[in-house]
Amino acid sequence: MKISCEHCGAVIDTDKDKKCTNCGAPYSSNKEYRDVRDNRKKNTDYDFREREADIRTKELSNQIIEKTLNAQKAFKIFPIIFLIVFIIAIIIIISVMSKF
Ligand SMILES: [Zn+2]
Repeated sequence: MKISCEHCGAVIDTDKDKKCTNCGAPYSSNKEYRDVRDNRKKNTDYDFREREADIRTKELSNQIIEKTLNAQKAFKIFPIIFLIVFIIAIIIIISVMSKF
């Protein structure tokens, strides 16, 4: 990253230079350098939170898909249960009717 030297105003490339190439002043206490560094840290934190939120969203959507699939399975079982109850009801009705 590029910052300007607080002592002479020259541009320092922090990726290449350990100190100002013009006047030799160190930039570790440079306000601009610290601000950018802090911002980078904040951005990293933000990325991390975003990724975490992303994972949570995926987990939630997976849960919804799973619940939907389970509901579909239950919906497939439901007619069979209904049919069994219907047959039992008919048997009961027939047995009651046959007594008369
Ligand atoms: Zn300088």
